[in-house]
Amino acid sequence: MDSLLKLHTQQLRDGKRHEIEHILPPDFLQIEEQDLVFKSPIYLKGEAYVTDDHLILQLSAQTEVMMPCNLCNEMIFIPLQTEEIYHTIPLSELESTIFDFSDLVREEIILLIPQFVECQGGRCPQRNLLSKLMKTKANSTPHHTPFSDFL
Ligand SMILES: [Zn+2]
Repeated sequence: MDSLLKLHTQQLRDGKRHEIEHILPPDFLQIEEQDLVFKSPIYLKGEAYVTDDHLILQLSAQTEVMMPCNLCNEMIFIPLQTEEIYHTIPLSELESTIFDFSDLVREEIILLIPQFVECQGGRCPQRNLLSKLMKTKANSTPHHTPFSDFL
């Protein structure tokens, strides 16, 4: 697949700003995992420009991922939204006048994936069940000692 996310730095000379606005298909991320399902498009916005010796990219991305609740394993949608992130790339490091920023976008989105997720905004039904179980266990602990009848 030819990348949509290419900048021609030559065209950005003279302080020209290049608007970035893309809706990318989820397979853009190239992630195929059972516990990490991307089905929604990725909305990408930002702009690019060139200073004397740097390419500046300002990007924000938004999408959502489906992943299992850490407690009950039910698949839930987690919104992923980056703040505006600035990337500064020295022009001297570019291999050509074309810069493909697909990897930057992929990295930004992958960094947003949380380590721990819980369904129903932190009110997973499993959480109640777990705490009930703990309570029952605590209550069934024998407090009865051979002497308690005499106290
Ligand atoms: Zn849950």
